[in-house]
Amino acid sequence: MAAFECPVCEFVYDEANGVPREGFPAGTPWSDIPDEWPCPDCGVREKADFRSKK
Ligand SMILES: [Zn+2]
Repeated sequence: MAAFECPVCEFVYDEANGVPREGFPAGTPWSDIPDEWPCPDCGVREKADFRSKK
């Protein structure tokens, strides 16, 4: 599964883990995250700003 990293803080969205505290259970694909979803850690960047993490 893929992971995506916030360009501002250290937060990483990993599809295998999801973000249960945000209402996205483990296994939620990145494509299911709303485009306007803000980074839960810094709140500065939105989904569109996240970068694919190797
Ligand atoms: Zn962030």
